[in-house]
Order: sequence, then C-alpha cells, then structure tokens
Amino acid sequence: MIEFINVNKTYPNGVTALKDINLKIEQGEFVAIIGLSGAGKSTLIRCINRMHDINEGTLNVNGVDVSNLRGKQIRKFRRKIGMIFQSFNLVTRTSVINNVLVSSVPELPSWRKTLGLFPKDKKIAALEALDKVGILDKAYNRVDQLSGGQQQRVALARTLAQNPSIILADEPVASLDPVTAKVVMDDFKRINQEMEMSILINIHHVELALEYADRVIGIRQGEIVYDGKSEEVTQEV
Ligand code: ADP
Ligand code: ADP
Repeated sequence: MIEFINVNKTYPNGVTALKDINLKIEQGEFVAIIGLSGAGKSTLIRCINRMHDINEGTLNVNGVDVSNLRGKQIRKFRRKIGMIFQSFNLVTRTSVINNVLVSSVPELPSWRKTLGLFPKDKKIAALEALDKVGILDKAYNRVDQLSGGQQQRVALARTLAQNPSIILADEPVASLDPVTAKVVMDDFKRINQEMEMSILINIHHVELALEYADRVIGIRQGEIVYDGKSEEVTQEV
C-alpha cells in the first residue's frame, strides 16, 4: 500500500511541486495520474521510490515511512519497486536478455556480468519475463535492433525480473505511436491482472488513461483535483 499524508514537496529553487497531497493506493490497483506538463506527476511518483525527498508530511510505502530510509536501506527498498521511464533507459549495445539479467542479480560481481556468467535460474526467470511481454523471440537480439515499443517491453521485462510489488511508470508510452502505445498498455494491464502488482502510471493521454486504468487521479499545479474510477470519468465527460 502507498499512503501520502499531508505531503509537500518544494524543490531547492523554490518551486512547490506537491501541495498537501493525501492519497491512498491499495495493493493491486492500476492507477493513472493525469495532468498537464509541469503539474507534478513525475514528482509524485518519484517521491515514492525516494528518487526525490519530500519536505513535509508522511509517505508510507508497504508499511515503511520512506523518509526514514538511509543509504543501503534505500537500495534494498527500491528492489521491490520497479521504475519505467519514457526513454526506456536500456543498455542498447548489448542483448535484450543481458539487460534483464543485470537488474535481476545486482549482487553479482561485475566481471561475471561482463562475461555473461549469470546463474541458470536467473536466466530462466529472465526468459519467462520476456515471454510475459511477448518478446521472447528477441532475447538474443541487441536492444538497438528493436523498435521503440519492443524496447519499452524489454524495460518492463527487466522490471518484472525484479519481482516488484509496485511498478511506477513515468510517461511510458509518450514516445510511442498510438498503436504501439496500446500494445504496451495491454502489457501493463495484463501484468496488473495476472501478477497483482500495483501500477502507477503517469500519462498525458487522457483517453488511454481512461481505457486502461481502474482509477484516475488528476493533478493541477501540485494539487489533486480529481480522484475516481475511470468509468465515472467517462460518464461525466
Ligand atoms: P510533470 O511530471 O507533471 O510534468 P513535474 O513533476 O516534472 O511535472 O514538475 C512539477 C513542477 O516542478 C514543475 O514546475 C517543474 O518545473 C518543477 N520541477 C521538476 N523537477 C524539478 C527539479 N529537479 N528542480 C526544480 N524544479 C523541478
Ligand atoms: P519529464 O517530463 O520526463 O520529467 P522534464 O523535462 O520535465 O522531463 O525534466 C527532466 C529533468 O529535469 C528531471 O530530472 C526533472 O526533475 C528536472 N527538471 C524539471 N524541471 C526543472 C526545473 N524547473 N529546474 C530544475 N530541474 C528541473
């Protein structure tokens, strides 16, 4: 569960990106966060995995007050939270499976990673993750031979191999064409339903948010201005 209690976030330059946020997200929810550029969507999800620190209030994630985490605890905590970016953040000059494996065994010495010496059970788990997002046949291709949509699915497989309880996705389909965006959104939906992971997705494309998410949260100038079920939004529009 994710719970924001009276959370404020002001950047060092004085911009207040989150104002008195109160929000509760239960395990297994599929939530879309919508709002204009600069509304605070990115800041909101990046506070959850401590990429940003909050200034005031309390933010509990899976029973942990994230502000209390230090150094090594933050790294351990982040292992349970998958993060997906608009720009995929993959190592493009190596194979798809290596990208998935490197994040699934962070403790492995780097020389073993360089030589591709990964434990067999991790390799099987990586192939299973690639299968879940429909790109098993690309496992041994280099990432830079794949389309944008396929690359985002590699990033999703990499996150799945971590076995997180929460996936945070910051504009995951913003750089994809409309058809490919739907393919990737289908993957998120299936993962949410089959694996009961919570999914929080920032998306400026309102129609996609309403079509795929169960709950939609609207943010404007750092404040929550809407929070409700997708069906209800559709009825109001
Ligand atoms: P969104 O994701 O909805 O586009 P952001 O969370 O990125 O919104 O930004 C919210 C506000 O905070 C904006 O005014 C933005 O300029 C500001 N902001 C975002 N990141 C930083 C930062 N690292 N330093 C200072 N201001 C920032
Ligand atoms: P995105 O929409 O993907 O968050 P942005 O262009 O808003 O991309 O931000 C890119 C980076 O710049 C982020 O790390 C963000 O925190 C930072 N940033 C955004 N706005 C500001 C700002 N006004 N001042 C300083 N850094 C900012």
